[in-house]
This record gives sequence, C-alpha cells and structure tokens, in this order.
Amino acid sequence: MTKKILRTCLLGLVAILLLTTLIHSEGVLASDPLPDTQVLIVHYVDRDQSADLANRYDVVEVDSDTQTVKIFSNQVTRDALAAEGFSWTVDRAYTALINTEVKPLAGQTTGIPGYPCYRTLTEIYASADTLAAQYPDLVELLDIGDSWEKTQNQLAGWDMEVLVLTNRNNPSVPKSDAFFMSGIHAREWAPPELNLRLAEYLLENYETDADIQWLLDYNRVHLVLSTNPDGRVQDEANTSVLWRKNTNNNYCGGTSSRGADLNRNYPYQWQFISGECGETYSGPTAGSEPETVAITNYVLSIFPDQKGPNPSDPVFEMTATGMFIDLHSYSELVLWPWGYTYGTAPNDASLRVMSYKFAYYNDYAPQKSTELYPTTGSTDDWAYGELGVPGFCFEVGLTFHQSCSVFENEINPDNQQALLRAIKIARKPYRLTYGPEVTNLSVSPNPVFPGESLLVNYTANDTLYSSHEGGILSQNIISIKYSIDKPSWIAGSGW
Ligand SMILES: [Zn+2]
Repeated sequence: MTKKILRTCLLGLVAILLLTTLIHSEGVLASDPLPDTQVLIVHYVDRDQSADLANRYDVVEVDSDTQTVKIFSNQVTRDALAAEGFSWTVDRAYTALINTEVKPLAGQTTGIPGYPCYRTLTEIYASADTLAAQYPDLVELLDIGDSWEKTQNQLAGWDMEVLVLTNRNNPSVPKSDAFFMSGIHAREWAPPELNLRLAEYLLENYETDADIQWLLDYNRVHLVLSTNPDGRVQDEANTSVLWRKNTNNNYCGGTSSRGADLNRNYPYQWQFISGECGETYSGPTAGSEPETVAITNYVLSIFPDQKGPNPSDPVFEMTATGMFIDLHSYSELVLWPWGYTYGTAPNDASLRVMSYKFAYYNDYAPQKSTELYPTTGSTDDWAYGELGVPGFCFEVGLTFHQSCSVFENEINPDNQQALLRAIKIARKPYRLTYGPEVTNLSVSPNPVFPGESLLVNYTANDTLYSSHEGGILSQNIISIKYSIDKPSWIAGSGW
C-alpha cells in the first residue's frame, strides 16, 4: 500500500523517469517491465567513490576485483543516480529473487512464510517470554525502552527487550559481560534467529555441559534479539521492500522509504547523512532514535568506561573487560573498528586477533570495517570508542532472506561457535584472545572420587588461525593453567 502512495506521488515525474530508465537500464523494453525494486550493478572508479556510494545509497555488495557495487534501488534512487551521471546494469536474477512473493510451505503454520526456520517478530518475543518462564534461575527479561511506534502510541509498537542469561543464584561471584544484538536492519532475518538459538542452546545445555555451566555461572550474556522491531514488522508484511531502517514517520513520512538507519545513528564520531528517504539516513542528530537511546543507555549501564575521550586513547589491555557484537547479514565478514576512518584504532592489533579467531569458527573474512566501506554512527565503533569494549560486526550469510538450509547447516552452527568463544574471552578480551585453543579435553576416571588421582588429557594449539585468510602469527605455548570446579581466577579454585 505504501508503495502505491509513493507511485502516486511520483506520477508527475513519470515521463522523465521513464526516459532515464530506458537510457540507464540495460535491455529494458516496454514489454519487459522490471519491478520497482531493482538490484543495480554500478561501477566505481576509486575507493572514495565507492565510499561515497555506500554512504548515500543502499549498497549491499562490494566487489573490489571488478570495482562494482550492487545497490538496491527504487525509482527515486535510480533518478538520483542518473542525475549524478552514473550508469548501471540490472542484476536481473537478483532482482527477480527479491521480488518473488514468499508463500508458506505446505503445512507451514509458524515462522516467516516460506522460511520456517525464522521465527516471526511476534514469535521471537513469545520465545523470549517462554525462556524467561521456563528457566527462572537462569533468565531475566528486561524492558529497556520503547520502539519508535510505541513512543507515539503506547498501544502500538514494541518494548525493547534484553534477555539476560546467567546463573541468578550466585550473585556474589565476579561476573563478566557479553552483549550481542541483532535485527538492527529489519530485513536481515538470520541474525535474530541466530541470537535466539544461542540463548536456547545455552539454557538447554546448562545442566549437562560443564563448559556452558561455567559460562553462565561466571558471565552475564545480554541478548537483544530485535533492536528494530517496528522495521521488522514492515519487512515481514512486504518482503520485497526489504525494509532496513526504523519506521520514524518524521523522515520521508508516509512512504516505504521512511525512517532512520539505526546503524548510522549511534553517538560516536557521528556524522549527518542527508536524504531522509535514503536507506542510510542518519537521523537528524546523534542518538536521535528511541531504539538507539534504549540500547546505548543499557550498554552504558553494564560496562565500565575503559577508554579516554580521544579516539587515539588506547584501552589498557591488561584489565579491560567486556564483549560487544552486532549481528548483521550479509557478506560473510567479521568487521572490527574503526568504521568511521581509514586510520587504525589504538588497539587494532588485538581487535584484529579477536576477529581472526572468530573467523576461524565461522570461516568468514576478517576485515577492518573500512575495508568494506566506511560507516559513521555504527554500533561497534560506539562500543569500542565510547567504552573501550571490543566491538564487532558479524555479517552472516550471503543474502538478507537466506534459505533455511544454509541457515541450519552453516550460519547457525558456525556463528554459534564464534559467539561461544566471544563469551569465553569476555572477562579480559584483549589478553585472553591470545591464548591457544584447547581441544580434546577429557578426564579419567570420570567421575573421580576423593583420594583418587585424575588424568587430564587435552590438546593446546595456537596454529589454528595462522593459515586463515592470510593469518595471524601463532605463538609458542609456554604454560597451561587448569583448575577444577571453579575458574582459575576465582579464589579457592586450587589451580
Ligand atoms: Zn545490517
């Protein structure tokens, strides 16, 4: 319906637009009309031009080999590109794919139609309620604010919710914090499901898996499953719009291009990106959106400020704590700060090692964020720049509405391992990331009784990452520390 309104508004421009379409779209005939939403392949001449395109248009892929970007477009976008002198070809296969109506599978009663592995937004919220009810000793569900729609009408919109996972019966032990958020871009279906599956995996295995037990005994895992619920509702209602922003009607009001890009709205090295109808519109001021305020206030409340006021102030790596990951799709990347500048962050070396080790598990390409393209006002720059908490963006999968087979066989299992590693190192991430990977751990006898001797077998390996994507240097292993029943840093662990 919103699309129709947009078309009506643009009626006066039809003659001009038709002309530019005919000139700039390869092989378009009147008898072969393309849908309004088209994927364009646009050539760029240099890094600055690709950065400029990504800053203002909905760039979904960058191919540095062919020096092309893929841009999701509507008629307004194409008109703007044409006015700037850009030409393009249409990726017809991709265009057809995103315009294919999604239909429920035979017998499908839950999940997004055609994609039963992805719970709908309503089901995601219901699942969080279920987990809180089912595991009261391990789960706290917090309301940290309102979505934009709810700020306008308390009967509409959504609460912004955090699922906090930890053993709630040992409040006096020291705990570390890991924060994972998902769904900031509404059309990205895999990240919220991945985040929710992680919650379920941790809770279902807590009683029986010693590794998970210590993770939840000595950490708090904070999960915001949907950081843009209003947008997600729009995306589910009309999947070919591929909704990205929130739904703030003050910007490009009344159209399906309305809202602010929440991942250009975070208040660190924020810059105004103009064009309210553009997919990367930053909002009028840093942190202008209620979704941003809810998340930043919450994250400020769980982590200490460990970084000085200047971007060049280094975090003191020996003591700094915490972990922040923003889950996105797509491109199979692990991105680390900075995104706002080509310059490196003061803790670049350690951020790089963390990224490579995550990438070992999900087999993605680890990159400094600007290797993709520069971004301002992004979540991971904010977490690292404001608080000194290592901040990352995972770009999971190979498309926004990824098939369930890829999600179940690759995205979920591979990224779950990377996220578990992130929780394991959250206590002192800048130091612990340099440790080797311990595998093949076994003890005998099992169980062991008082007075019996115990044989511990394990493999410690620091070479797993050196061959990956150009690699990071492996180190000689000097010593290995172990403890029984309690982590080695807890008094009385007897390591
Ligand atoms: Zn995204």
